[in-house]
Amino acid sequence: MKAVQYREVGTAPEVVEIPVPRPGPGEVLLKVTAAGVCHSDIAVMSWPAEQVPFPLPLTLGHEGAGVVVAVGEGVDTVRLGDAVVVYGPWGCGACVKCAQGKENYCLRAEELNIRPPGLGAPGAMAEYMIVDDPRHLIPLGDLDPVRNVPLTDAGLTPYHAIKRSLPKLVPGSTAVVIGAGGLGHVGIQLLRAMTGARVIALDVSEEKLALAREVGAHETLISDDKAVERIRELTGGRGADAVFDFAGVPPTTAIAQQCAGVESDVTIVGIGGGSVEVGFGTTAYETVVTAPYWGSRSELIEVYDLARDGDVTVHVETYSLDEAPKAYERLHANQVRGRAVIVPGS
Ligand code: NAD
Ligand code: ZN
Ligand code: ZN
Repeated sequence: MKAVQYREVGTAPEVVEIPVPRPGPGEVLLKVTAAGVCHSDIAVMSWPAEQVPFPLPLTLGHEGAGVVVAVGEGVDTVRLGDAVVVYGPWGCGACVKCAQGKENYCLRAEELNIRPPGLGAPGAMAEYMIVDDPRHLIPLGDLDPVRNVPLTDAGLTPYHAIKRSLPKLVPGSTAVVIGAGGLGHVGIQLLRAMTGARVIALDVSEEKLALAREVGAHETLISDDKAVERIRELTGGRGADAVFDFAGVPPTTAIAQQCAGVESDVTIVGIGGGSVEVGFGTTAYETVVTAPYWGSRSELIEVYDLARDGDVTVHVETYSLDEAPKAYERLHANQVRGRAVIVPGS
């Protein structure tokens, strides 16, 4: 089968031919219908060899959807032909975090060498993929896999971030979204669907700001050194009640810190190396700063329930497996509108 692999540190991903895997006991084989392209892959592929925590080659793709085509011994909770999406942050299933569905925070994943598909285990950018356990599958029903596969990460990650700030996002409040890319353009829609907050979106690109307005942002601003002042003006001096930074680079975490109002939340989702210093006088009184990772299994079920209600529409660009390297190039050059999705067999 064809697979898109990161093969050597510092090189671009390649399309290669590898054997179709067979499901072992407890595992599920999916024929992949769609795989999303996340900016985190670009970050991972920029790490030096000593920082890469898994062996290469690695089949990429941590946003996956597919149809069940084979099951290993003992699997009886999914059926052949089921359309599913993959919950990506695999954990042990048994520790106290996993017991709460928070496999993204599994306490034993590292010790047991459990890694997400596409981020250590073979991922979804291939014709077929193995899922380690049927509990990591969520029914897709009749939702379109191509338009909805990004919700497994570009939906779940902002959903988790927003959910923890819901008590602050009452009517009259303001949410600032920094970065209107894959995660950000879904985050804006989630904020509109889940809260009464006014949404101000920031990006460095006018095209991304146009997308932000299209998906529901009330105000859009170029992310520059005037952005903080403009946010203060737009909020009557009060500042934001929640800031979601989907870039997470030093210039955006600085904006986040400065535009956050009293008793606000600052959530750093982007992994661009930025940080917010917390201390008396560095942030507004009682600002909570956090950096979450992905989301829980039950939250992913909630995200798909929202999608079924028609509350989130992911804007996608589609590519074949052969075109995947081009999709990564476009993402790297900040040219993707919404999310790039690889569609095997297209
Ligand atoms: P993306 O490339 O689709 O979107 C990033 C957006 O940020 C783009 O629209 C870009 O124009 C914008 N941007 C870049 N610099 C900016 C700046 N200075 N000010 C404002 N906007 C700026 O990427 P994505 O796939 O949506 O991922 C976003 C970030 O989130 C990445 O860092 C990714 O690695 C990270 N991520 C984190 C988690 C997590 O669990 N914490 C999960 C998924 C992705
Ligand atoms: Zn991701
Ligand atoms: Zn666990």
